[in-house]
Amino acid sequence: MEALMHFHLRKLHAVLPRSLSKACRRSHHCAAQHARSACTPPMPVTPMPLVSRLFQPSNLREGQEAGGLTCHSQRLMLQAGLIQLSSPGCFHYLPTAVRSMEKLVRLIDQEMQAIGGQKVDMPALCGAELWRCSGRWELMGKEMFRLRDRHNAEYCLGPTHEEVVTELLASQTKLSYRQLPLLLYQVTRKFRDEQKPKFGLLRGREFYMKDMYSFDVSEEAALHTYQSVCHAYRRLLDRLGLRWVQVQADTGNIGGTLSHEFHLPADVGEDRLLMCGNCGFSANVEALEAGRMDCPQCLTQPLTESKGIEVGHTFYLGTKYSQVFSAMFTNAQNKPALAQMGCFGLGVTRILAASIEVLSSEDSIRWPRLLAPYQVCVVPPKKGSKASEVIHMAEELAHHLGNCFPNLKGDVILDDRTQLTIGKRLKDAGRLGYPYVVVVGQKAMEEKPVFEVVCQQSGETLFLNRDGLLDLLSGVETI
Ligand SMILES: [Zn+2]
Repeated sequence: MEALMHFHLRKLHAVLPRSLSKACRRSHHCAAQHARSACTPPMPVTPMPLVSRLFQPSNLREGQEAGGLTCHSQRLMLQAGLIQLSSPGCFHYLPTAVRSMEKLVRLIDQEMQAIGGQKVDMPALCGAELWRCSGRWELMGKEMFRLRDRHNAEYCLGPTHEEVVTELLASQTKLSYRQLPLLLYQVTRKFRDEQKPKFGLLRGREFYMKDMYSFDVSEEAALHTYQSVCHAYRRLLDRLGLRWVQVQADTGNIGGTLSHEFHLPADVGEDRLLMCGNCGFSANVEALEAGRMDCPQCLTQPLTESKGIEVGHTFYLGTKYSQVFSAMFTNAQNKPALAQMGCFGLGVTRILAASIEVLSSEDSIRWPRLLAPYQVCVVPPKKGSKASEVIHMAEELAHHLGNCFPNLKGDVILDDRTQLTIGKRLKDAGRLGYPYVVVVGQKAMEEKPVFEVVCQQSGETLFLNRDGLLDLLSGVETI
């Protein structure tokens, strides 16, 4: 915002008569002094992101593809310097991946808060006692990371938080029906001791998940909440521009009576999905009787099989957990009653990797547009080339876009590696998948400068004058 003001001031000075401009400068000066006297340090100006400064080590080494444990998205993410393996199933998320993940979390926040979700952050270290109460300490088996503290008390690194959140609610003694439905969610690291971590972020031992828990006054209200969360999931996947399927699912070790999964259809997916072309019925094969290949809804049609990557899972739990921990509220008749629960998961790192998996080409990343780490990459001409006199024009353009367009704030990066040819840098830009790459080259030297704009998503290349370019980019949706 301040950068924006500075810009306007600068522009103003350029057009105002000298005396007016002076007055303007003086008042600005006073404001700065005032701020100093109140001990408020000035807002730092965010420097222009530069490709040369980006910590983006390419981590694709010979032999990493051996063993059949990698997939398309893992290879692309290693190659582009988005992730780096630390230990089996555990990755460093590097700066570009973190930017993208933060965008995804903002999108999730928007959708969860739109249906009344309140964000919390629960401990990852969970006492064994709670898990023993629900019977899941034994049930979870080897997939759960378990540890002991110095007093020999047992803990696990939470793979999911039904017990923890239900106990949190049970400790509220004065919960009224007026406060329900209550939807609490978090976006945190989860842990699972995978026997064979594989496919990069698709099946790791440490990953980010959004988990939401709902508490309602009745089964009817809980089912209503269940539907509204499913609706929010569908909207979220639509906003990402992903093709998805919602299927009936098995409730597994979470429990409950009603469950759905959200999948991105993909060959690398580990789930087998069955779909009916006639009535639209779809289910995970695990949720159907073994060997069943006809539709349980319309009976006649044979089901077609496809594979999917699970990115979301919803459960209607009823009172399975609220009963164990006595999670009660006071109903309209002033009597205590058990809360009806649901739980809802979204794989955050899974969505990131799965969308790269399904959208990308052989050696270029394509992001859901909203999640691209930077929306625009500006490529100036090579130093020493005929067009090198417009290098400064490219820099000015990048600054202007990144500082003066509210939608692009911080989302414009300058490929300042002017020792390289434009072609080489265009190739790198294509690989990382910036939605818009703006080339400032020979055509920018014409009397009315023309910019070349590569739109990665549509595959088009446009030649636009400055107004046309600003017009195009001011309409880019960001989060
Ligand atoms: Zn059918």
